[in-house]
Amino acid sequence: MKTLHVEIVTPDGPILTEDYEMVSVTATSGELGILPNHIPLVAPLAISVVRLKNGNDTKHVAVTGGFVEMSHNELTILATAAETEEDIDVRRAQRAKERAEKRLQSQQDTVDFHRAELALKRALNRLDIS
Ligand code: ATP
Repeated sequence: MKTLHVEIVTPDGPILTEDYEMVSVTATSGELGILPNHIPLVAPLAISVVRLKNGNDTKHVAVTGGFVEMSHNELTILATAAETEEDIDVRRAQRAKERAEKRLQSQQDTVDFHRAELALKRALNRLDIS
């Protein structure tokens, strides 16, 4: 089976370097399924789950935005943060979700609602795959 080489990199270092038969990512413009030898591509990513497939196995990685680049059968994901399902601290994500929900419900002028919305999306995304 043909594969493509995948690297997921964050400011803290590489999260994953492996070969896969198919990868699906959610760009800000929509979902993209990427197979080996896909044409060159650069796209911004949504806060979303990257799905990496080999046969019947699927690995899930939560990413908090960033970029995907495909070139010469190498798929690189540069993300501000990324966690594989086994690295997600569920209690931390649950606490982040509750904090963000409280901020969004508060009537205070000092709350940055956009920031709270993004924090809620990150927490829900992590809870989604854990
Ligand atoms: P929190 O408020 O809990 O810090 P956050 O969404 O603000 O959540 P980020 O800024 O996205 O956190 O990430 C900061 C760092 O913490 C990154 O290295 C990220 O991988 C890690 N991280 C955040 N939440 C979790 C989690 N629930 N499990 C594991 N790692 C996490």
